[in-house]
Amino acid sequence: MSATISRSARCNCGDVEITVTGVDKSAVHCYCLNCKRATGTAFAHNHRFVKAELQYHRGQDVVKQYADGTTDSGNVMYRHFCSTCGSPMFLKSLAVPDFIALHEGSILEEKTQPTIELYPQDKYPWIGDVTSLCHD
Ligand SMILES: [Zn+2]
Ligand SMILES: [Zn+2]
Repeated sequence: MSATISRSARCNCGDVEITVTGVDKSAVHCYCLNCKRATGTAFAHNHRFVKAELQYHRGQDVVKQYADGTTDSGNVMYRHFCSTCGSPMFLKSLAVPDFIALHEGSILEEKTQPTIELYPQDKYPWIGDVTSLCHD
């Protein structure tokens, strides 16, 4: 899992279109409380890149970021979202330079099954084993 890949994404209203190119660190589910609140769902499903480059096709002026500093690790997570429609787009962390986690649901290409689950202690019991079908 170290190939360089590109994934494009757009928000609900279409004001934001981006492409992230970088080394593929695969997809994760995160069950932490901050991700639940930020996505409004039971978990965040993110595709992670390192050595990532972000290209805006449109909407750089529309994207806003929230510096989420109440994380367990104490590292500030910058949550980027479309300020027109509110779609969460991607996360950056200053603790890991050139790291980008792209929200899987906004990716235009085939969606990637998560290989890792973060904060399993906060996973709801009715969510099944989401990594069992992964082949590495
Ligand atoms: Zn939008
Ligand atoms: Zn999280």
